[in-house]
Amino acid sequence: MLENLTDRMSKALRNLRGIGKLTEENMAEALKEVRTALLSADVHFKVARQFVEDVKAAAMGQEVLASVTPGQQIVKIINDELVKLLGEGAGQLLDKKPLRIMLVGLHGSGKTTTSAKLAKRLAKEGYRPALVGCDIYRPAAIDQLETLCRQENFRCYTDRNSKDVPKIGRAGMEWAKEQDANLIIFDTAGRLQIDHDLIEEVKKLRDKIVPDEVLLVADAALGQEAVNVAQHFNDAVHLTGIVLTKLDGDARGGAALSMKTITGVPIKFMGTGEKMDDFEIFHADRMAQRILGMGDVVSLVEKAQENIDEKEAQRLAEKMQRAEFDFEDFLAQMRQVKKMGSIGSLMKMMPGMSGIEIGDAEENRLKQTEAIILSMTVQERRKPMILNASRRKRIADGSGTSVRDVNQLIKQFGQMRKMMKMMGGSKGRKLMKKFGG
Ligand code: GDP
Repeated sequence: MLENLTDRMSKALRNLRGIGKLTEENMAEALKEVRTALLSADVHFKVARQFVEDVKAAAMGQEVLASVTPGQQIVKIINDELVKLLGEGAGQLLDKKPLRIMLVGLHGSGKTTTSAKLAKRLAKEGYRPALVGCDIYRPAAIDQLETLCRQENFRCYTDRNSKDVPKIGRAGMEWAKEQDANLIIFDTAGRLQIDHDLIEEVKKLRDKIVPDEVLLVADAALGQEAVNVAQHFNDAVHLTGIVLTKLDGDARGGAALSMKTITGVPIKFMGTGEKMDDFEIFHADRMAQRILGMGDVVSLVEKAQENIDEKEAQRLAEKMQRAEFDFEDFLAQMRQVKKMGSIGSLMKMMPGMSGIEIGDAEENRLKQTEAIILSMTVQERRKPMILNASRRKRIADGSGTSVRDVNQLIKQFGQMRKMMKMMGGSKGRKLMKKFGG
């Protein structure tokens, strides 16, 4: 399942821990997982293949960050590549008045609904919209357009008596001009699938009305068929943009990536519900997250990249393995983690961890631990064995805790070091393997 892409990545990249750089060989298994995940998100196989190549190129040679797992790191790279491919900020329509927009697409994709949504959005930007109904084959489509226009108070042109679509389009355009409209949206007929007659009709209409924008309205759930549909329409009438609808459903968004990559036509808007206001400019970052189906790994990795001093993290990890870790190191590590925000908020960002609550009690315990370590001298932090009773009493007083608290921390620390020593040896490595580390 897609939800587990990050987990799958983590498994596939398990062996990368402690390796310096990402290379073609050490990423091979992970990249295979990426491909499978994209295919199950309904991404066209050609697009998936090219995408894996792009990710490989972007990841190759990158240092493996010590503070996040290689799996998380690669998911971030994939996310960035996805956003780049989907095209952030491409939602601009031509800035001109009058503006003529023709909507094309398959039957049921949401053309009529989108005509009204688009008119409503652009009306807020100062346009005076008029809608022209060119879907003559379905009387219900004309009724629907008229109802929506009445509801939103838009001018609307329909002709139930003519079967000549280009002529209706032309007449609607003239009429709209008389009405002083400076935005004319043409709602066209769809079919259940692409066929010759549909394409011919759309072409003839296009030649008559010469639209500034030709937008393909496509259902996000279209899946593999999406590329075919977009290519046909693009070849016939040269699309200027795509509106992806029904993103409030559980479509995985692979269609978006496929259509954009193969046709190069930008996705400009997205429909997110049946209501008139459920319509937004297309956000590539949200779509990327939908395709990846992950938790907020991306921002976790960004935070780590911003805040963690990689060399320092590496140094501490090595000290831990050699069981030379002292209170000074412990403090340094606590600070690194704190720079990234509270432990609670960090945990929330990890996939599968969002349900686990880190309460105030744990946060307070960490604060107390820090206070105790801060009350030690540097020498004491480096050599905890010199911490005799009088030193412990002084530290407790200095940190506003009790001798019992101090004793407990020192005891736990001793145990932790013992564990690390074990882990460092060959026995430890076996133990780690048992735990899947
Ligand atoms: P057309 O045949 O292409 O004109 O499609 P319609 O505009 O008639 O839409 C078909 C159905 O999809 C209608 O029931 C719409 O309410 C619904 N629809 C359109 N856009 C969206 C959307 O973004 N989300 C959801 N949930 N439904 C939508």
